[in-house]
Amino acid sequence: MRTQRQVVDYSLRKRAVLRELLAGQVGTYDVCDASPYLKNAARFHGEPTEERCPICRSENLTHVHYIYGDELKQSAGQARTLAELPVLAMTLREFQVFVVEVCLGCSWNHLVEQFLLGRDGLAGGAENGSDQGAADASAATAPGAGPAVRRRREAQR
Ligand SMILES: [Zn+2]
Repeated sequence: MRTQRQVVDYSLRKRAVLRELLAGQVGTYDVCDASPYLKNAARFHGEPTEERCPICRSENLTHVHYIYGDELKQSAGQARTLAELPVLAMTLREFQVFVVEVCLGCSWNHLVEQFLLGRDGLAGGAENGSDQGAADASAATAPGAGPAVRRRREAQR
């Protein structure tokens, strides 16, 4: 997505949890605890993936996108489909997206990543075109005389 920024990747934390699970430091009950709300969100707003669940290995993971931000008002904290995000990104200045992977089989769930979306992310691209503004400013300081002065200097060399 074009305005995506400040991406935080949680794959290291996920690997750490899976290691703890293998080592028996945490039980599957501790990590396979998706709430009914989360599983419903996965069913109705989730994005299917090709990735197998690391716990039960019988279902593919579903990604759920939760959105947060003051501009969202009562929609804050709701799950949205992936297709809805670019539309929101063009209408709002900034909002936070949390991506959670869920297994509808065994209820494994973990935060995948978080990032910002919104029109504020486009401002950086507009600043790159500031050369144009500088050129306009210099033209204004030497009204009309510009090309003639330059020609005279060239003749003196
Ligand atoms: Zn599973």
